[in-house]
Amino acid sequence: LEALDVAAIREEFPILQREFDDQQVVYLDNAATTQTPDPVVDAMSDYYRESNANVHRGIHHLSQEASNAYETAHDRVAEFINADGREEIVFTKNTTEGENLLAYAWGLNELGPEDEVVLTEMEHHASLVTWQQIAERTGATVRYIRVDEDGRLDMDHAADLITDDTAIVSAAHVSNTLGTVNPVGQLTDLAHDHDALSFIDGAQAVPNRPVDVKAIDADFYAFSGHKMAGPTGIGVLYGKRDLFEELDPFLYGGGMIRKVTFEDSSWGDLPWKFEPGTPQIAEAVGLHAAIDWLEDIGMERIQAHEEELAAYAYDRLAAEDDIELYGPDGSDRGGLVAFNLDGVHAHDLTSIMNDHTIAVRAGDHCTQPLHDKLGVPASTRASFYVYNTREEVDKLVAALDDARQLFA
Ligand code: PMP
Repeated sequence: LEALDVAAIREEFPILQREFDDQQVVYLDNAATTQTPDPVVDAMSDYYRESNANVHRGIHHLSQEASNAYETAHDRVAEFINADGREEIVFTKNTTEGENLLAYAWGLNELGPEDEVVLTEMEHHASLVTWQQIAERTGATVRYIRVDEDGRLDMDHAADLITDDTAIVSAAHVSNTLGTVNPVGQLTDLAHDHDALSFIDGAQAVPNRPVDVKAIDADFYAFSGHKMAGPTGIGVLYGKRDLFEELDPFLYGGGMIRKVTFEDSSWGDLPWKFEPGTPQIAEAVGLHAAIDWLEDIGMERIQAHEEELAAYAYDRLAAEDDIELYGPDGSDRGGLVAFNLDGVHAHDLTSIMNDHTIAVRAGDHCTQPLHDKLGVPASTRASFYVYNTREEVDKLVAALDDARQLFA
C-alpha cells in the first residue's frame, strides 16, 4: 500500500492550521469527532447556494434536485458498506439514534421477561444505557460478554452466554476506549446459531477501515457521519431489507406514510418509512461528499496509516514506566490509545496537553462500567485520523514531562 500524502491531505483542512497561544493545533480527538475537509464543506455550501428545497419529490425543479441529492446519498452509503441498496440505509442523527431506533421499534415490541440481550463489557453508553432501559421496561435481562486482561472479548464466555434465550447480540466493532477490534462476524454467527439478531456499533470502524456488512452478515449496523470526515447531524442505520420491512416505524409524521385516514395510516416504502419529517438534506450531501473523499484516498490506506500511528503511539507510551495503557498491545488495534500517567488525574493531564494546544480527551469516554472494571475513574485518549503524523505523537509524549513536573 502506498503511504498517504499527509501534507497534501492537511491542506484540505484549514482548521489544522489554527493556532492558540502561538502553537499550532495538534488534533488527537478524532474518536470523538473528525475534522471536515474543504470538499465536504463545499458540497454542503453548494447545496445551500444552489439546490436548497424540501425533499419528498416536490414538483418544482429545486425540490427535484434536492430529493435526488438526498436519495442518491443513500445509494452512495449502501455502496460504501456493501448493502443491497437504499432500502437498507436509514439516515439517523448519529449512532446513538440508530441504537435507539432499533431498541424502540423492535426491542420494546418484541422483548419479554424470557429474553436476554447480550452486550459486551466494552459497549459505549449509546448501546449499554439504551438496552438497559428497554430491558427494564420489557422485563428482559442484559448480559455482558467479559473483556479479558488483554482488553479482548472472552469468546468462550460469548459462546456460553449466547443461547436460545438470546434475542439480540449488540457489540461494538471497534472499542472507543480499548481500541480492540472485535470479531463481529463470529459474534453474529453465534447470534444466528441461536436465532438471535445481531446489531453492530460501527462508530469507530466505518471511518477507519473497509467495512462490508454482508461479509459480517450483521442484521443491523450503525455509524456516525461526524467521525468520518462528514458533518454532524447525520448517522446511518443499516438493516437487512426483510428485517426492516417487518419492523414498525419508530417516529411518525409526514413523508413516511402511504395512506392516512382519520382512523388509520399505512407506511411508505423503505427507507422513508423510518425517516419522517424534513430530514438532514445538506448533511446527507455532506456525507456523500465525505465518502467520495475517503474512497479517493482508499480505506485500506487509511486503516494502515492509523494502525501505524496507533502502534507508534502505543510503543512510545509503553516505553515510559509511569504510563498505564489500556487495550491490546501495539499491533491489531484501531487508531486510538487510552492511558493514564501515574499520580495524575486524566483531566489534569489533558488540561496540560491543552496548554500545548494538543487536543486529547479525558473521561470515561462513555464507557463507565468498563472504566470501573479497569479500576480507574477516567483515562486520557489520543485518537488518530488521516491527517495525523508521528511528529504529533512525539509532541504528545514530550508534553508528559510537564505533567510530571507539576504533579509528581
Ligand atoms: N459507539 C461508539 C463505539 C462510539 O465511539 C460513539 C461515539 N463516541 C458512539 C457509539 C456514539 O456516537 P454518536 O455520539 O455519534 O451517537
